[in-house]
Amino acid sequence: MADFGWFSQKTNPIRDLNHPVQWPSPFFDFQNVLQWKIRNPLLHGGQGRIWFSIPAEANMATDIEIEIKKLRNKIRSHDQKYYVDASPLISDLEYDRMMERLRHLESENPMLIVPDSPTQRVGEQPVDYLDQVSHRVPMLSIENTYSLEELHKFGERVSELLDGDAIEWIVELKIDGVAASLIYENGVLTRALTRGNGAVGDDITHNIRTLQGVPLKLTTDSPPEVLEVRGEVYMNNRDLVLLNERQAANGESLFKNTRNVAAGTIRLLDPRICAQRNLRMFSHGIGHCEGLVATNHMDFLKELGSYGLSPTPFVECFSDFTAAASHCEVLINRIPELDFEIDGIVLKVNRFDQRQTLGTRSKSPRWIVAYKWEKYEAVTTVHQINVQVGKTGAITPVAELEPVQLAGTTVSRASLHNAEEIQRLDVRLSDTVVVEKAGKIIPHIVRVEKHHRKPGAIPFAFPTRCPACDSELHKDEDGVYIRCLNRHCEKKIMEQIRYFASRDAMDIEGLGEKVVEQLVATKRVRAFGDLYRLTVTDIESLDRMGEKSAKNLVVAINESRSRGLGKLLNALSIRHVGKTVASILARFFGTMEAIVAADLESLVAVDEVGGIIAESLFEYIHSDAGREVLADLTQVGVNMESTEFIDADGGVLAGKIIVVTGTLTRFTRTEVQGLIEMHSGKVSSSISSKTDFLVAGDKAGSKLSKAKKLGVRILSEEEFENILK
Ligand SMILES: [Zn+2]
Repeated sequence: MADFGWFSQKTNPIRDLNHPVQWPSPFFDFQNVLQWKIRNPLLHGGQGRIWFSIPAEANMATDIEIEIKKLRNKIRSHDQKYYVDASPLISDLEYDRMMERLRHLESENPMLIVPDSPTQRVGEQPVDYLDQVSHRVPMLSIENTYSLEELHKFGERVSELLDGDAIEWIVELKIDGVAASLIYENGVLTRALTRGNGAVGDDITHNIRTLQGVPLKLTTDSPPEVLEVRGEVYMNNRDLVLLNERQAANGESLFKNTRNVAAGTIRLLDPRICAQRNLRMFSHGIGHCEGLVATNHMDFLKELGSYGLSPTPFVECFSDFTAAASHCEVLINRIPELDFEIDGIVLKVNRFDQRQTLGTRSKSPRWIVAYKWEKYEAVTTVHQINVQVGKTGAITPVAELEPVQLAGTTVSRASLHNAEEIQRLDVRLSDTVVVEKAGKIIPHIVRVEKHHRKPGAIPFAFPTRCPACDSELHKDEDGVYIRCLNRHCEKKIMEQIRYFASRDAMDIEGLGEKVVEQLVATKRVRAFGDLYRLTVTDIESLDRMGEKSAKNLVVAINESRSRGLGKLLNALSIRHVGKTVASILARFFGTMEAIVAADLESLVAVDEVGGIIAESLFEYIHSDAGREVLADLTQVGVNMESTEFIDADGGVLAGKIIVVTGTLTRFTRTEVQGLIEMHSGKVSSSISSKTDFLVAGDKAGSKLSKAKKLGVRILSEEEFENILK
């Protein structure tokens, strides 16, 4: 008995790193369990149940763990089918049975409950309406400035009001999402509200509970009695791309930007939809608090991090206003690196006592200002609408535009996505259009300025035959895309070979667009396998190809044989199987043989592989074309096994000593340390020759240089995350 204590219900998600981590709290006598329950009344859904148990020996739990994991994956995948695709595969009764079984297993094995289990993260039932609740401290707006000059005026004004006191200035990104206020009472999330009109907001607790970066219980033993933290609910750009792919595949309309998704989702009555959209939250502000330790903003953010919340990243403090103002420009230049949208930079006074002195005006506090710039929009005209054939045969219309400057680059074309998008916009030749950069990278047409339309402009007629091979085009049964289904379509093959050779796929250096075009046009390459049969002489005969580069290319092609299953699966251009899914499948199955042998159900059961993906993969692998491709690639000696880290019994980090340093953006420090321990690694605070890895965030200082000196392997956050996957 002395070897273990009583455990509360929370343990940690092992594989899903995107969710906040909650730690098991061991209790060494039963009295403590009861006290803990009293302090955390909401953790068990308020149903008055106490869950605790003696942790089972790891090897005893294995079968149950596996069953639980399988159930969770199945339920998630059916949720996806039901809520996102609106095409359930099973009856409600079957679904309820699975959920019932999962609930039963979890209640018997509370240590195996993870916050993102379908039983935990998602409210059982949609709410009937959104409650209106008053904010204890009003959520005020922030004054905007649009020039450095105005910004400096703000600095001077604050200085004057504080009688020349020394001021520390905070520079922070202004996340373009939806403002929310979260209330934790004794460490437990009890309520979340929208800003509403600033005085009264909508109760969105049911949705907030499903968010990443929002712990249901603060990860500390001594939480403040009341913590009202404010922040921004947002979505990553790459998640928007994925969501829109799903929307498109289901024939539903696409979301214009991440803010629209966040705003539209957070007020939905059914939390299950929110749970599937991968919203996140960055915390940055204080509301009504009791028992807070911090007395300034920098310490406050650290405190939030130690509670398991995700503070806004890249925050810096300056003792000089001019330095702070010029740092705004530095941040603006870094915008393209961010995976989320921002709509300004915020400057604020660090010390809370000074904020108090400054107070507020009618609508906004005097100690904070936003530095903004004009939106990335431009007006131009459409010269031409062309269609392109993609690697999966999808025909994509592209608008050729009068070149126009937008967010620092010249934009001369914009994707129109599909026929329905053209119809929706009703865009025609010579139309005047407004273009915007979504995710700061991809320009798209926001709207047509119809009042400028020239009389007689005729609607665009979508082609009915492939512009490359002239075969008849077909519309997806279940989606919006129109495709060329001809397996031998030259343009499609070119695109597939090009993708096959790209960085994230087989990474063949020197196999660029021009070379691929010639290889396919001269019929030297008709399928992936043909690449591996090319000789130096074959390649030398191409335009602008010397002996040396031909030799190099043959070497590069040969080397690509060993990229491994993950890269190969991605390289095959199977619909819905992209880089991430390919890598998940490779790690899960290990060999192509195992994937070929898997039935549809086992494919669906893999984490993050939903029904659509599984069906598409299954269909490809068992089609004549797919079988031919795989046999051919096996014959030319392409490696069909996973080369990625495989989760060994003892955890991937078993016995490894790991040091964490620098500013992390994906995890809080506590999360990282927790994850290391979860995977059987050991956290150390100092670098020595015994250190196995250094996980280095931004601004890693002396530890980084010491690690380099000692030859310790250095991991970025991303690499660290990849190891754990
Ligand atoms: Zn074609």
